[in-house]
Amino acid sequence: MNPVCVRMWLLCAVALFPGLVAAQARPLPGSEVPQIYQRLLPQIQKIPAFDHHAHPGYADDPDVDAMAAPPNASEAMRTRDDNPELAVAAKALFGYPYNDLSPDHAKWLLDKKNDLKKQLSGTAYFDSILDQINIESSVANRAMMPDYLDAKRFPWVFFADSFMWPFNNQRETARNADEGVYIPLQEKMLHRWMQQENVNKLPASFADYLNFIDRVLEDNSKRGGIAMKFEVAYFRPTTFSDPTSAQAEDIYQRYVNGGIPTEKEYRTFQDFIFRYLVQEGGRRHLPVHIHTAVGIGDYFNLSQSNIMNLESVIRDPRYASTTFVMIHGGYPLEREAIWLAAMKNVYLDSSFGELAQYPSAFKDTLKMWLETFPDKITFGTDCFPYNQVLGAEESYWLGNYSSRVALAAALAEMISENEITETRALELAHAYLHDTAVKLYQGRVH
Ligand SMILES: [Zn+2]
Repeated sequence: MNPVCVRMWLLCAVALFPGLVAAQARPLPGSEVPQIYQRLLPQIQKIPAFDHHAHPGYADDPDVDAMAAPPNASEAMRTRDDNPELAVAAKALFGYPYNDLSPDHAKWLLDKKNDLKKQLSGTAYFDSILDQINIESSVANRAMMPDYLDAKRFPWVFFADSFMWPFNNQRETARNADEGVYIPLQEKMLHRWMQQENVNKLPASFADYLNFIDRVLEDNSKRGGIAMKFEVAYFRPTTFSDPTSAQAEDIYQRYVNGGIPTEKEYRTFQDFIFRYLVQEGGRRHLPVHIHTAVGIGDYFNLSQSNIMNLESVIRDPRYASTTFVMIHGGYPLEREAIWLAAMKNVYLDSSFGELAQYPSAFKDTLKMWLETFPDKITFGTDCFPYNQVLGAEESYWLGNYSSRVALAAALAEMISENEITETRALELAHAYLHDTAVKLYQGRVH
């Protein structure tokens, strides 16, 4: 094109698509990013959030998770007890007067929390923590619910892994020190579901075992469960074959009364049960949450539990009516993971990413997600009571703070780079922090 033609073409383009040419995206943000960030942040802080993944509770409560941290596990830098940001969290929540958490100083914090728990009895203590950080409701992904969490503000997400470990688990437990902690807790969880349903031994027939699973799902829904959660990546590879019911039944019959299945037999049985639960999740409108990031414990095998292993399940049209929430968004494979959200029934939760990374890096994760499938991503803190001093309270605070500042920074860059308007940025902030997740539960949460 000669220069005259180019000018004519541009004039036509502006006339036909006003807004389009004016908003041509540019590769570098302008110097106004800090001002946009300062404008957005207070508006983002005001949005009441829905925390899509958290483990609220007291440190001495064994039901906070269906598993436990293995002893002496390595911690990435920001998630260590000596992270000075945790003292900032304690200051913000409790008026903590020190800048470190040395044992002498930590005692002040412990006493303060104990006083508050006495003043704020029943469910008031944890409600007040949510109020302080503007979280309207928070998922409680716990083994069981305690009476000190308000069911209206802490909807329950229960664990479904244990149905996959009904047989003799001697070999599974002996695999390494981490499994030595995890697998007995799965046995305990299965036993509790059996107690709940008045089942005192494994049903003799496979059909009755599936029936028992159905009853647990049914009763847990009635007891307020809004979704089922798998943390299966901690216990075995997440590649799932597609066995027939007859194959699973045959293995069940062989080992229901004892004996150790071969590894291949056990996996085949588990693959069937996993797919059965996924299918039931669709039928019962119980979204399926799956841990999809790296995990705690030195033996956590990232390549065997890579989020992309799940692609064969979540892109399977047979499960189109199941809603999948990929907890932790596949971190550190979040770049690949966001493309799974192309499936209409797949969502990504950002929790843990905001704790494993500092806000400067998490901002880039969020920006990439917002630029790809912004309507398919949800906020979560992954709060957890690490110990008496560093409780769920401080990790709620840190997760909430980190996500909101990173969100404001990501959106400020996108506005400055002419990708979106400021109005659209705030719509995306509402969607990520609250609306997208809440819609998945069809009125059961707010
Ligand atoms: Zn978690």
